Amino acid sequence: MTENTDKLDNQNTADVNSAQTNANNALPNEQDNAAIDAFFASSAPKSPANFKAGYVAIVGRPNVGKSTLMNHLLGQKLSITSRKPQTTRHRIHGILSNDEMQAVFVDTPGIHRNEVRAINERMNKAAVSALVDVDLVLFVVDSDQWRDDDLLTLQKLGDTDLTVVLVINKADTLKDKGAILPLIETFNDSFDFADIVPVSALKSQNLDRLQEVIASHLPIADPIYDTEQITDRSERFLASEIVREKIMRSAGDEVPYDLTVQIDEFKDEPAHKDPKTGRPRKACTFIDATIYVERDGQKAIVIGEKGQRIKQVGIDARQDMEQLFGKKVMLTLWVKVKRGWSDDERALTSLGY
Ligand code: GDP
Ligand code: MG
Repeated sequence: MTENTDKLDNQNTADVNSAQTNANNALPNEQDNAAIDAFFASSAPKSPANFKAGYVAIVGRPNVGKSTLMNHLLGQKLSITSRKPQTTRHRIHGILSNDEMQAVFVDTPGIHRNEVRAINERMNKAAVSALVDVDLVLFVVDSDQWRDDDLLTLQKLGDTDLTVVLVINKADTLKDKGAILPLIETFNDSFDFADIVPVSALKSQNLDRLQEVIASHLPIADPIYDTEQITDRSERFLASEIVREKIMRSAGDEVPYDLTVQIDEFKDEPAHKDPKTGRPRKACTFIDATIYVERDGQKAIVIGEKGQRIKQVGIDARQDMEQLFGKKVMLTLWVKVKRGWSDDERALTSLGY
């Protein structure tokens, strides 16, 4: 396997970071604190007697809006989304807690037809295994585009005795709202759904109703996770997903969906006095990440003209991380060419799949 490494000239990004450090040397202000609290807040259950809790799998064809749905149900961004299908490769737990229930969401990459490449096989396994031991399945379809692939997933669900709620997403795209009625009839004929809920994940329409429906199908149980918690994923993992999303969004169709971001270093430095100047320094997390691509051409695209793209990716990713983690972040990005890694089982394992 050929490997070709380049450390990026991230000087400009670093400059932006240190400029911010100096500007924000004081403790977080009230506004910051409120924003951080809002990020991590969730209401604690008051009446545990009838409390409902369980696992909810979100399944459906790529691009129907599963990640968007989970993010908007949670009111914040955990799973990455993009217009490019198959941006989600991992199971992601998002946790929604309110006074009545706790729903632990499993976001799946969808079930693919072509199990050709090693990476796709693993994705399929993740999608199917996501359905084991869940209490409820949200089967998501695009209200405008019903395809054979949807049926494929539905067939798999038919072999189980899972409770399935049909979520008809992207209702906002329908010019004629009445068009949804024959659609509902068609779905009802092909599967015995526990409920059918049209929503717009993107515009957060009818998500309250969906939450009620979810709660009604969950078993009475104690919360599975701490109700303050929003995900069981590590900050490390979230950091890699954020970098990946920024590249996908920026480079669009020019890079394959199977590029991978590995976090090489994730180091929390507590607030301290600068030994040289004696000035107080805020707590900061140092993150080094390597972006793996398959070809030199892809590397050039990720880096961009005069490093402009990677610089912007670094800035955008750092901002998201700071908002999500509620602390200062210094991010260094590297790009490496690792030819043919997505077909190489061993390489996949070493990258954590
Ligand atoms: P996934 O592959 O099923 O996880 O789909 P994503 O959540 O990544 O969404 C795919 C695309 O559909 C993105 O461009 C979303 O912005 C878009 N999308 C998701 N939900 C809606 C919706 O309710 N309305 C509209 N108009 N677009 C949506
Ligand atoms: Mg997704």
